[in-house]
Amino acid sequence: MSRAAPGRPALTDPPAAKQAEAVSSVPRGSVTGGRTCSWCKGPLLPPRRRFCSDDHRRRGQKAERKIEDADYADGVRRLVRAQGRRAGADLPMFALFAESVDFARARLADAAAQLIAQGYSYADLGAALDITRQAAWKRFGCQPKVDTGPAGTGGAA
Ligand SMILES: [Zn+2]
Repeated sequence: MSRAAPGRPALTDPPAAKQAEAVSSVPRGSVTGGRTCSWCKGPLLPPRRRFCSDDHRRRGQKAERKIEDADYADGVRRLVRAQGRRAGADLPMFALFAESVDFARARLADAAAQLIAQGYSYADLGAALDITRQAAWKRFGCQPKVDTGPAGTGGAA
């Protein structure tokens, strides 16, 4: 995605070049007549609205979700980057940013606890974060909600 600075103050109207850029991003060549499957682009029969089969619906929706998740994470990162930039301006903004970071950390711990409650293991969490099971347990294993601690991981914490 774009790495252009989003936090630049908009003191002036955007230059004409920027507006032209926006216009050129309009999708072209979209087929408005016969409907096609969003996954295989094959013909779509009347009862079907987006995908030609359940299999293609599953595949198509999974692919769409991956893109949506990536876009979402990108949006969050943009917000954090913008707040981080402001935090360097003065102490009140610095304090607000610290609050946000603590909030995010607590929500991450909640998410880990939810996954564990769903049956995921610390090894699963570690694999997702590319860290060891021990590191995942050290980071997320001290949640009061989680009472089914993994065997053999007690001790130093
Ligand atoms: Zn299809």
